[in-house]
Amino acid sequence: THFGFRTVPESIKESLVSQVFGNVAKNYDLMNDVMSGGVHRLWKDHLIRTIAPGRDTSLLDVAGGTGDISFRFLENVRETYGTSAGASVRVVDINPAMLEVGRERAKALGYGGASNVTFEEGNAESLSAVPDASVDVYTIAFGIRNCTHVDAVIREAYRVLKPGGRFLCLEFGSVENPVIKSIYETYSFNVIPALGEFVANDRASYLYLVESIRKFPPQPEFAKMIRDAGFTQIGKGWEDLTFGVAAIHSGFKL
Ligand code: SAM
Repeated sequence: THFGFRTVPESIKESLVSQVFGNVAKNYDLMNDVMSGGVHRLWKDHLIRTIAPGRDTSLLDVAGGTGDISFRFLENVRETYGTSAGASVRVVDINPAMLEVGRERAKALGYGGASNVTFEEGNAESLSAVPDASVDVYTIAFGIRNCTHVDAVIREAYRVLKPGGRFLCLEFGSVENPVIKSIYETYSFNVIPALGEFVANDRASYLYLVESIRKFPPQPEFAKMIRDAGFTQIGKGWEDLTFGVAAIHSGFKL
């Protein structure tokens, strides 16, 4: 146990995760801002700059939830090329409630109708609806730590990417600096569950989120998993954001 929270057995992890995101879907975007003080926006913007999308880039955004990465991606293409008509985004997520919020946001942003962003239900561990070698860029933001079999997720990413395509994962990391680490742990285990309770009336879901961050492999270990799946990395394979509170891991399928 850690702060009274029991570790989730693998056999029920998937149903717990779907319950958590079913609970938080409506408050999800607000809570991200509240919990991170808006910093998640900077991390996501940085992810898009790292992708540096081309005019016709196709993106598969897995665990794409309410569309945060997808809309930023299309906006970046539009700003850079004057139109996002050539680009496309396919959002896959396991949770229908998150997808529904995403579809509504798409409509509100003017991506409704015959648009180049689609939302569909699917599991990151087996993307059976996505053909081999079919996408330019694969993103998974704050999603992979919720998956039961991380190695299967990376393998699927490798399969669906075209040769030359890039895998990018934005995820919470582990903080090495001891001073920052102790501040961060206090914040995670005390402040976040309390905010979950007061803002979303749901302490348990946010306690789960904190626990899932703590259990995820640290950056060097995760980078090795990506390398072992066949990806070619630049340098050590990741970039720390905000002292390693988050990190962007990436690799090319060459
Ligand atoms: N990418 C979005 C963002 O950055 O705002 C959403 C991140 S949210 C923290 C995590 C998402 O992962 C949830 O929408 C959840 O439903 C989804 N998820 C969890 N397990 C999954 C799986 N095995 N396959 C696909 N999506 C999954």
